[in-house]
Amino acid sequence: MTANKGAVTVIGLGAMGITLAELLLKDGYKVTVWNRSPEKAAALVAAGAILAADAAAAVAASPVTIICVYNHEATFHILDTAAVRNVLQGRTLLQLTTISPVESRLSATWAAGNGAAYMNGAIQAAPAQMGNADTPILVSGPQAVYNTVTPFLQVFGGNITYLGDAVAAAPTMDLATLSYIYGSAIGFFHGVRISEAEGFGADTYAAIVGGITPSYGEFLKHEGNMIYAGNYSVTQSPMRISVEATARLEQTAVESGINSAFPAFAAALFKKAVAAGYEDEEVAALIKVLRNPA
Ligand code: NAP
Repeated sequence: MTANKGAVTVIGLGAMGITLAELLLKDGYKVTVWNRSPEKAAALVAAGAILAADAAAAVAASPVTIICVYNHEATFHILDTAAVRNVLQGRTLLQLTTISPVESRLSATWAAGNGAAYMNGAIQAAPAQMGNADTPILVSGPQAVYNTVTPFLQVFGGNITYLGDAVAAAPTMDLATLSYIYGSAIGFFHGVRISEAEGFGADTYAAIVGGITPSYGEFLKHEGNMIYAGNYSVTQSPMRISVEATARLEQTAVESGINSAFPAFAAALFKKAVAAGYEDEEVAALIKVLRNPA
């Protein structure tokens, strides 16, 4: 442990909050913690953390409070009390809970109304991956507040992306990334069922998916650039290939007697692209289907 670097508060001691508090303690900060269930602070207190009696005392203990709880409602349940509002003036809140863009703007307005600076971060790693040089963290909010919270973020991870002063930028990019992650996860799990139905283990299949993932990432970057340019002329992958592929997925689900929810959803989207006349464009043109709220 290095010499005392100053005071910081962590509210929320779930899997992630405990990790954040541990990293700050190890880095030499005077760490005050608070959690709805105080017993979760025991190991941190044994390691030198101070357990505040309540959330207001926790916020009052440090210039910067980091909050990492279940969701936006939990955040406001903890912070939006007269006792906390009374001690917020001149302090900084760093929100690391996964929240929506609208919730982020609401939080920033609420904080400003109570005299506090507000910064929104988004952790894109699991607790075991925290504190490494490549741990990715997105952050957004006013530049001056970014400068205030940067030393703490650097303890949490070395791969910090500052997305500018629009406070909702970090949650927006975080949720967009989560959309990609959950979309591919559902597709992956459905792929396990295709494999199992033909007697192949998930391990064999997972190794193949792991192998293609880096090049697939490059392909998605290419498609994203095409969407940004508004250019849907075929460069890599024509829409019609995906129309057939998703039709085969749906057919295989029926033939194998496995759950068909995911391929039916995917095939229906690509059928809409054909109906809209995009069959001979690049697969990126699917965005034009998704831009229609219907
Ligand atoms: P967790 O282990 O489920 O912990 C949830 C925390 O929220 C606990 O401290 C819990 O308090 C508190 N909480 C829940 N409802 C509350 C309420 N109504 N009032 C007061 N406190 C409440 O979650 P986590 O894994 O630490 O995740 C925390 C945040 O980090 C989430 O937004 C998550 O999306 C984000 N995150 C997590 C990971 C990850 O891999 N874990 C990765 C990236 C981002 P109690 O202890 O009293 O229940």
